[in-house]
Amino acid sequence: MADEMETVEFFLTGSLLSHKAFMEEHGKDRCCLTCGFLSTLGAGKVDGVLLGDRNLGTLFNAGGSDSHPHCYLSEVSLIFEFYKAAKAANVDTDLRGFASRAPQERIEIGAVMRDVLAVTTCDQYVPWREHLSPEWHWEHKRMMDIERMRSDFTEQLEKDRRDWTERLAERQAGDDKREKHFAHWIAFAAIILGLFQLASAFLAPVALKALGFSGN
Ligand code: SF4
Repeated sequence: MADEMETVEFFLTGSLLSHKAFMEEHGKDRCCLTCGFLSTLGAGKVDGVLLGDRNLGTLFNAGGSDSHPHCYLSEVSLIFEFYKAAKAANVDTDLRGFASRAPQERIEIGAVMRDVLAVTTCDQYVPWREHLSPEWHWEHKRMMDIERMRSDFTEQLEKDRRDWTERLAERQAGDDKREKHFAHWIAFAAIILGLFQLASAFLAPVALKALGFSGN
């Protein structure tokens, strides 16, 4: 009853909540009600939805024109969802002359619509900014997506560069170790060769003499 009184109050005085308060209250759940792509479609024209209509769910013939709720990205058919929910709630779905219907009827229809908008979620949600059109939200989302891709790409490049530098340093360290190892073997071989030459120089004359060969 309190809600209904508030709603009737709205018809008399204007918006119940400011845009900020509305988004704080409803924007947490990422639903159509607070999405920047929530629109009305009438005579081939797509319009953004005003705060008052979001507050009340009065998206049929919003602003007096012949229109119905619409997702700018066509992610979901909001009118179809509305008819299903209205049928289940036993609400009259004949929406002709909606704007001139009695406030109580508009409240009932609006309540069903708000329920539909409150539960329908999708990956394309963007928070609604008041006074900005669905087209603006689309351009903004695309810019944000491009910026995110650019930032991911830069991050990946930087990671690849770091990995490559690390691998190069590891390989360099491995090469240094192998070179050191090889140098030790060369030194060892040189020592053996030296010892062998030394031994030959001293032992050969002695051996020859012992075998009866004279040095002359
Ligand atoms: S939440 Fe998804 S389905 Fe709903 S209006 Fe936004 S983009 Fe469309």
